[in-house]
Amino acid sequence: MRNQSETPSGTAAPVGGSERAPDAGEVDEALRWTVEHAWSGSPFLRRHLEGAGVDVSVFGGRSDLASLPFTTKADLREAYPLGWTAVPENEIRRVHASSGTTGKRTVASYTDGDLRDWADQFARCYRYAGVTETDRVQIMVGYGLWTAGVGFQSGCEAVGAMAVPAGPGNTDLQVELMEDLGTTVLCGTSSFMLLLAEKLDGSEVARRLNLRVGILGSERSGTAMRRRIEDILGLETFDIYGMTELYGPGTGIECSLHDGMHYWSDYYVIEVVDPDTLEPVPEGEPGELVLTTLRKEAMPLIRYRTRDISRIIPGACPCGSPFPRIERLTGRTDDMVKVRGVAIFPAMVDTTLETVDGVGSEYQIHVDRDSRGRDELVVRVEGDDTPGLGARVAEALRGALSVRAEVDIVPPGSLPRSERKTRRVFDHRD
Ligand code: ZN
Repeated sequence: MRNQSETPSGTAAPVGGSERAPDAGEVDEALRWTVEHAWSGSPFLRRHLEGAGVDVSVFGGRSDLASLPFTTKADLREAYPLGWTAVPENEIRRVHASSGTTGKRTVASYTDGDLRDWADQFARCYRYAGVTETDRVQIMVGYGLWTAGVGFQSGCEAVGAMAVPAGPGNTDLQVELMEDLGTTVLCGTSSFMLLLAEKLDGSEVARRLNLRVGILGSERSGTAMRRRIEDILGLETFDIYGMTELYGPGTGIECSLHDGMHYWSDYYVIEVVDPDTLEPVPEGEPGELVLTTLRKEAMPLIRYRTRDISRIIPGACPCGSPFPRIERLTGRTDDMVKVRGVAIFPAMVDTTLETVDGVGSEYQIHVDRDSRGRDELVVRVEGDDTPGLGARVAEALRGALSVRAEVDIVPPGSLPRSERKTRRVFDHRD
């Protein structure tokens, strides 16, 4: 633990690294540290703060947070590659980069302390999922520039378990490793785990495996999809939280009660704002998550807009954890489509489909314009041949979305499976 230790640039990061949530005074102190550190260490962040008229010397803490400007992915791109870094570049121990799927690649930088903090947080995630040093953890996510592979691995090593760095894809190799090495924990996207599960469904091999825990990262997984993965592979799944800008995966996870994800409030603060007005929403209401880090050295985040939509679950979790919870992500503002003026998230569709018997977990949302220029919504979903199934799905969707959707039932297994994230939304309008 590095609590109260000196950072490379010589100032103390005040909280974090213990298994308790910080009190209000500690959060204020840590926020003051972050803002001062960002201002003094990164010319880019200093310009950003000064451009918004912020006087760092009078910033008091949590109650002043709303006086600070937001930061965004676009700002991070503008600071490419290392303009956001708030320590001397020779104190950077590692960089990672995001995929750049929605624009130019962004770079995240880490000090020694950041890497330890990340591993500590990730180890906490594994412990919340019941993983111990006796487990064998098969890591089926990408290594390299991505944060995923090395993140899952560092956390695994910090918890003392055996890491099997299998990497993504190659289902035959994955199954072979699981069987030969007695893998107990799988880490991967829910899309890939579904692919594996469907490959093993009903096989002899499936019965010989020792799997008990699955950690699902980097995309939202619907309940029906998770149940299918759990049933076939014989494991309990946990959604994990994270993003490259905030260390990587491992900054929050479900507990065994599976009612939302605990997040590590000794490492960062979450605000929830209305994504249109950017005003804070009332406590417990959904909105966009905005993050401010408490002890990140190389790349502090100040009111960083994640584009993740969720809400903070009020009150303590019955599991006894001291850490607060966010609800499973509804989606990202990037995944939202507006149909006839109504905002639709994939989560709204998957949670509705789960209520209808006879439909599978896989679906696609297609939006187009009809000949009169009106928005047209088609939900394509895998289902059996029960008569009237399409009509029942359409009725359920209409109730949930407030928009009429055409429903196209296709045979089970016919929609594409992905080894990475599964694309759900197809907007065919210009
Ligand atoms: Zn809990």
